[in-house]
Parts: sequence; structure tokens; C-alpha cells
Amino acid sequence: MQPNPTDTPLSFSSLSLAEPLLIAVRKLGFEQPTPVQQQAIPPALEHKDLLVSAETGSGKTAAFLLPTLHHLLTLSTRKPGTRALILAPTRELAQQIFKQCQQLIEFTDIKAGIITGGDDFRLQQNMLRRNTEIVIATPGRILELMGQEIPNFTNLEILILDEADRMLDMGFSEDVLTITKSCNEQRQTLLFSATLTHFGVIKMADKILQDHKVVALNTLHDGHRNIEQQIIVADDNNHKQKLLAWLLLNETYDKALVFTNSRIQADLLRGPLRGQKLRVGVLHGEMDQKDRNRMMQLFREGEVKVMVATDLAARGLDIKGINLVINFDVPRNGINYIHRIGRTGRVDELGLTIALVKSTEWNLMSGIERFLKQKFKHRTIKELEGKYKGPKKLKASGKAAGIKNKIEPKKVAAEKIKIRDRDKKNIGKRRAASAQPDLPQTEQQEQKD
Ligand code: AMP
Repeated sequence: MQPNPTDTPLSFSSLSLAEPLLIAVRKLGFEQPTPVQQQAIPPALEHKDLLVSAETGSGKTAAFLLPTLHHLLTLSTRKPGTRALILAPTRELAQQIFKQCQQLIEFTDIKAGIITGGDDFRLQQNMLRRNTEIVIATPGRILELMGQEIPNFTNLEILILDEADRMLDMGFSEDVLTITKSCNEQRQTLLFSATLTHFGVIKMADKILQDHKVVALNTLHDGHRNIEQQIIVADDNNHKQKLLAWLLLNETYDKALVFTNSRIQADLLRGPLRGQKLRVGVLHGEMDQKDRNRMMQLFREGEVKVMVATDLAARGLDIKGINLVINFDVPRNGINYIHRIGRTGRVDELGLTIALVKSTEWNLMSGIERFLKQKFKHRTIKELEGKYKGPKKLKASGKAAGIKNKIEPKKVAAEKIKIRDRDKKNIGKRRAASAQPDLPQTEQQEQKD
């Protein structure tokens, strides 16, 4: 397995892992951490919650086992119960994790156990009663044992969900949430998934992770179960508005969510869309909580079919039937992008997400594609084809080539000063006007178009 050649390769010893683990790693013949290990182990050692996209074969198992075992070795506790729980979708995967765990704990006194369906129930009960520190399990059997009040996860220090996307595919979503609820709230949680653009993964992350870091290494297209992602290029916001109305009138969907980067833009879209006889609601942080709740209720009940929202207002939004997400503005980064599109998709149907991209947003969008290791499908609407077709020349990174030369630096600097001065004035006004500031000031700048 090759480490990422573009990164300065870290060695296992520079990851500050406990010596018995380093001995085991050497015995296994691992010379250098793989990219997922390089990126996930340091924040995991800092007890951060993580959402990691990594495929099988990337070394993901050691990426979560090593920091977990380091934690168990270096922080001793006398509390009863399991200290680390790893949930995997299948028996085979649980067995593979267990095998690697045994290899890594060879030079320690940590005890590991495996709990999967089909194995002896009584042996598993006894193993849990002996306070085995690290337990690798499939959700079904753990739930059965929970029915007998045997597992004790009240002192759990680390919870890991491996192949969360597959767990959701296999219908374990509710089981996983039930198990999670019985776990210590102060635990660290690591969520691994082959892809972040899978229906439900972001919703699950919202429910079980706290203040998490995203490590995106691989997001594969694994066929129909993913969210279909499209890009439509646009000339300007006016053109985008026409495209948006067309999409909302012609696409098939139960509920649609439209994202803007600013409250002002969200408000600006309401009138023209209502003019098209669309049942539209707006959700942003300047609205008081009562209005927001009312709007959410109308959306949930289907009275409102299209919701225009800003990022913060939509965080944690879990409403059934959203199968179309349109990015009117390209989000500022890949993390916001996955949070937005994570609102769509259901087990039994495809989610569709479309980003409207004007020339100034091209590089931002290609950065998001790179972050997700995906190329989105380009689409045109015949009736509304614009002049802009994307950059004439592209760099290998997918960014527009030579775009910098076209912008006069002095003009940009003067514009920035103008915006900064105006924002300084506005901050005071807005603070007075709003008891609940929501989005960062910069969104006022992005409003300029
Ligand atoms: P996984 O993605 O966890 O299923 O791992 C795939 C394979 O890579 C397993 O056989 C591991 O033993 C192996 N492996 C994990 N980490 C490393 C590493 N740093 N160097 C070489 N092989 C590794």
C-alpha cells in the first residue's frame, strides 16, 4: 500500500503511538502510515469526533484501531463496562476488524471480543460481563443482548461506526441510533464511510457526532444509491434565477431545498419563485425562532414544497421527502457542500442535487469536486442556454487557467476596501437589529454580484 506521494510522509513513530503498538505495526510490516492513517490518526488522538470517507483497502481499519488502542493503553480507568465499541455492518467485516485488532494488541494486555449473530449467545454474554475493553460487533446481536440488559456502554469512551454507508443500506439506521443512545454521551465517536455523498450518512453524522472534523479521502460513486450530482453553468444571478425556476417547475420531486450563501439572496428569491406559483418558504437566521419553527412545520407537512435556506438555518434539518437540493450559490467549501446535499436522498429513491455555477464560482466548485474526489455531471437546459460555457482552458486541477490575469488587481483591491468600509458600518446596525446573529459578515460581500 503506497502512502500519498504528494504529502510529506509521516512515519508511524512520529504519530506518537504507544510503543507496544509500534512493535505490532513493525511486525505486520507496515512501513508508513497510509493517507487515511496520516490524516485520521492525529485528530483521533486528540479525541476529536471524526467523519472519514475511506474505502476498503485504504488502511482504514488501522486508522481507527491504532488511536483507539493508544487511548485504552494510556488512559486507565476502573469503571465497569466496555471501553470501546466498533460496529460493522457484516459478520465478515467484524471478523476482519477483530483479526487486525488481535494483531495490534499482541504486545499489550488489552482484551478484545467479537459479537456477531450466529455465534454462541452465552459465550458473548460472559465476554461482556468480564468487561472486555474493546468489542467489535454487528448491530443486530448487540441489540438482542441489550434486550437482556447485558452490555454496559454507560462508560464507553470510544464508539466507531465502520462502513456506515453500508450499515444504512442494510437498514441498520434505527438499530445504530438505538445503540448510540445507550452509550456514554461524553464518548468520542469516529464515523467511517466509503462515501460522504451517500443518503443518510450526513444525517447520521449530525445526530451522533459532536463538533466533528471531516477527513475526506475517498468518495466513490457506488451506483444508484448515491446522490446524483449535477452542475449547470450560468451567466449571472439573473440567469441562475431563471434556471432555478425552470428546474423547480420541471423536475420531479416531493420537496426541494434551495441553498443560498446569504440571507439577502434567500429573501430575494422568494418573490420571483412565488410569481411562478411555486409554494416557497424561506429559512434563515435573521428570522425569529417562532417563524422558523412555523416554516419548518409547513415544509414538513408539504404545505411548502420549496424551501430556500442558508447553511446555518439548514444544519440538522431532517425532513422526509427532500429529493432535490439546488445550490443557487456554490457553497464556500466542501464541508458545507456535503452538509447541504446530505439533506437529500432516501433509502428507496435517488436524490438529485444541482449546483448553479457562474464563472466566478468555477474554481470554488472544482475545489469541491477535488475535495470529494468526484466529477459531477454537466448539464444544460436547452431553453435557457447562456453565453458562459465554462472556462476555455482548464488546468490539470480542473481550475480555470489564466483567470487571474483577466482581473485588474487594483480594481479588486479598491472594491475590497469599499466592501470592508460598508461592512464596518453595517455590523453595528445589524447587531442592534438582530438579537440572534446567524451567518458570518462575509456573506454580505458575496451578495455583491
Ligand atoms: P483496510 O482498508 O483496513 O481493509 O486494510 C487493507 C489492508 O492494508 C490490510 O490487509 C491491512 O493489513 C493493510 N494495511 C493497513 N495499513 C497499512 C500500512 N500502513 N502499510 C501497509 N499495509 C497496511
